[in-house]
Amino acid sequence: MTNALPALVLRRRQDRRLRTGHPWVFSNEVDTERTPLTQFRPGDWVNLSTQGGRLLGTAYVNPNTLIAARLVSRQPDRPLDRAGIKERVERALSLRDRLYARPYYRLVYGESDALPGLVIDRHGEVLVAQTGTQGMERLRGEITAALHECLEPRVLVFRNDLPARTIEGLEPYVETVIGDPPETVQIEENGARFEIHPLSGQKSGWFYDHRDNRARMTRYVRGGRMLDVFSYAGGFGIQAAAAGAAAVVCVDSSRTACELVTRNAALNDCADRVSVQRGDAFEALKSVRAGGEHFDVVVLDPPAFARRRKDVKAALEAYTRLNRSAMQVLHDGGILASASCSSHVGAERFQGALYAAARAAGRELQILERGHQAPDHPVHPALPESDYLKFVICRVMRDA
Ligand code: SAH
Repeated sequence: MTNALPALVLRRRQDRRLRTGHPWVFSNEVDTERTPLTQFRPGDWVNLSTQGGRLLGTAYVNPNTLIAARLVSRQPDRPLDRAGIKERVERALSLRDRLYARPYYRLVYGESDALPGLVIDRHGEVLVAQTGTQGMERLRGEITAALHECLEPRVLVFRNDLPARTIEGLEPYVETVIGDPPETVQIEENGARFEIHPLSGQKSGWFYDHRDNRARMTRYVRGGRMLDVFSYAGGFGIQAAAAGAAAVVCVDSSRTACELVTRNAALNDCADRVSVQRGDAFEALKSVRAGGEHFDVVVLDPPAFARRRKDVKAALEAYTRLNRSAMQVLHDGGILASASCSSHVGAERFQGALYAAARAAGRELQILERGHQAPDHPVHPALPESDYLKFVICRVMRDA
C-alpha cells in the first residue's frame, strides 16, 4: 500500500454531481484556498474529498484545464498502475469477446470503460491507442505493459495526433511502442474486408462505431443505386455493394480515402459496381442534381459539424442544407440514411434538422429506424457526450 495520496478538496456542495456518478471535477468546484490546484503537476494523483473530509475516490489532476480532475476509482488511494489498467482492459475485453467473434473493434472507450482519457482500437494484432489527457499520457508505460500482458499485440501504436490534446497541453505525435507497424492492415466487418492505414488514416484508421448502422442500412440496398457521401474507406458503400446494390458511388474529399475505396472494392469483388468521386460533398450533391441523376439510397456520414457548443446553430444549418440536397437526389420513396457524430447536437435536434430539410425540399419523411454507436462504444450514463452518434434511416417521398 502506498502512502495516502494528497487531498483535493471540493467546495461546499460541489460533490453532488460526483455522487450521482459523474466522473469529472471542474476547476471552479475545487476549494483552491485549502488545496490550490497550482500545487499539482498535470497527471498527479489525489484523493477527492468533500469539505467535511469524506473521501469520494481517487482522481488524476490537470491544474491547467477546465476539467481539473477525473475520477478513476470510487475508493481512495487507488491510483491506476499496471495491474489496475490490466484489470480494466480485461473487463473491457470480456464485453468485446462476448459481442464479436473476430478481433476488430474498439477495445477501450475512455470513461465508459473506466479508463478516462484512453481510447484503444483493435485491428486484429495491431492496437492503436490514444491518450487524450495528461493523466493517461503519464501512464503510457503502464498501459503498454498491461496491453502486452493481456493481448500480446504484434504492434502497439500511440496515435497521439488528435487536436483535442492541445487543450490538455499535450504535443501531437505518433509513436510505435511495440513491434513494427505495417502501412496497411486488413480488418473485417459484417462479413466484408477492408484495408486501412493504422498509422496515417483518419482516427485509428477505421470507424467501428457505425458497424451496426452499416449492417442495418444493407437491407434497403438490394438491386438499387446508392450514393455514399463522406465515404472514407467505403464502410457503407462497399458493404452495400456486397449486399447486392446494383451500383454504388462513393464521394470523399480525401485522396487517400478515395484510393482506399478502390482497393477495398477490389478486395470484396465488387469493383465493377463501386465507383468513387473525389470532391466536396456539398458540391457533388449539387452536380448530381444538376445532372438530373437519382439514387435509391443516399448515405450521409459527415465529420462532426459542431465541435464546440457554440457551433451548434451553424451545425444544424449545415445538417439541414446537406440533408435537403440529399433528399433532392433521391427517387420518390428513396431511402436516406443520415448520421451525425456531433455530441453537442442531440438526437431530437438532429431529427429536427432532417424534418426542416424535408420541408425545404418539399418532401414527406417517414422515419424507419434509428441507430446509434455500436456497443463497443458503451455510453457512460452520466456523460451525455459519450452518447454521440445519431443515425436515422428514413423514406423520402414527394408531397402527396
Ligand atoms: N462514412 C465513413 C466515415 C466518414 S468520416 C465510414 O463509414 O467509415 C468523414 C469523411 O468525410 C472523411 O473521410 C473525410 O475525408 C470526409 N470529408 C470531410 N469533409 C468533406 C467534404 N466537405 N466533402 C467530402 N468529404 C469530406
